[in-house]
Amino acid sequence: MANKRSMGTICIQGGWEPKNGEPRQLPIYQSTTFKYTTSEQMGRLFDLEENGYFYTRLANPTNDAVAAKICELEGGVGAMLTSSGQAANFYAMLNLCQAGDHIVSTATIYGGTTNLFTVTLPKMGIQCTLVNPDAPEEEIAAAFRPETKAVFGETIANPALTVLDIEKFAKLAHDHGVPLIIDNTFATPINCRPFEWGADIVTHSTTKYMDGHAMTVGGCIVDSGNFDWAAHHDKFKGLTEPDASYHGIVYTERFGKLAYITKATAQLMRDLGSIQSPQNAFLINVGLETLHLRMPRHCENAQKVAQYLKSREDVAWVNYPGLPGDKYYELAQKYMPNGTCGVISFGLKGGRAAAAAFMDKLKLCSIETHVADSRTAVLHPASHTHRQLTDEQLVEAGVDPSMIRFSVGIEDAQDIIEDIRQALE
Ligand SMILES: *Cc1c(COP(=O)(O)O)cnc(C)c1O
Repeated sequence: MANKRSMGTICIQGGWEPKNGEPRQLPIYQSTTFKYTTSEQMGRLFDLEENGYFYTRLANPTNDAVAAKICELEGGVGAMLTSSGQAANFYAMLNLCQAGDHIVSTATIYGGTTNLFTVTLPKMGIQCTLVNPDAPEEEIAAAFRPETKAVFGETIANPALTVLDIEKFAKLAHDHGVPLIIDNTFATPINCRPFEWGADIVTHSTTKYMDGHAMTVGGCIVDSGNFDWAAHHDKFKGLTEPDASYHGIVYTERFGKLAYITKATAQLMRDLGSIQSPQNAFLINVGLETLHLRMPRHCENAQKVAQYLKSREDVAWVNYPGLPGDKYYELAQKYMPNGTCGVISFGLKGGRAAAAAFMDKLKLCSIETHVADSRTAVLHPASHTHRQLTDEQLVEAGVDPSMIRFSVGIEDAQDIIEDIRQALE
């Protein structure tokens, strides 16, 4: 199915293909449950012997249509929506790990994910080693242990804006017999498709560009179907040995390329229950319908704003991977030749205090704990999203205490630049 239609067509028509006389727009299946005429039919659903809907915690047609659209955009074989991006990253890991296991993650990741990996997962007995994504391969390789089950990174890190060398990390992961999981939230499949560079699993906070209108918190996990779990049987017993909670089903034997995503849906979602609501899935779908139109505009505006900031005397530094001379410009050109994202980070010569004063004077651009909205938004990570992190962790996460995270919207670029100018002056 993947690769046959172009991205714009998938954004508009993917996932929901109505039959004759069915609604043109994706219907919201606002129902917890689904009706059957024989008890045997329902029993077969519970045994995973047949596909079908019986309870919305396990599957819902609205959610499935949206997951199918994101899956096609990423070029995967299966996908599952979650209630948030946090739930997506948690489930993506927990689907492979249990107490005693270990993961390797780049240090420059979203602050919420850093907390999940370094505070909450260790309480469940899962350890995480953070690595510098730009370190030489040998140094990163030293972080692996026999009990390592996965490698994690973000295509473009929020908010550090480091660009991941996906091929390098895919090779490191595969050399150690484990999958590479990529959080592709900032790039979106419009600008980068990590499976084409060797990633095995992709996660999203659909809250960001996919929704794009700051309406709905949500997440998604997409499976490439490419990782050979059975070839590393000892590491991934949850996928390759009988699941007692399904009469001894072996996911790799029964579901083949769909083993990972089926386990996530049938087992983790059943037991932990962080489902997306069909109402919200509907809203995410409306956002997705314009993703291919919005992303180029976000990138075009961000490019102009980054260039303007770079030209100003009172701006100490600007990070934007689309800016020639940026530390990640070459990697961005390789992995995202059509554009990266709408988020810029920069610091003012006056540091932390100047950042607060500048933000208070903005009129068009608002202070929000959000990025990737159609409206321009600004945030000071050290005092907002990353305030739980120590100064040391801030530096490791690539967050300078003076950093302003500027999420460029799709208003007219000249108005955004004018707002920045008046606030700086
Ligand atoms: C926002 C974000 C998350 C968390 O997503 P929520 O939908 O807020 O739970 C995870 N990863 C990245 C890169 C993000 O930007």
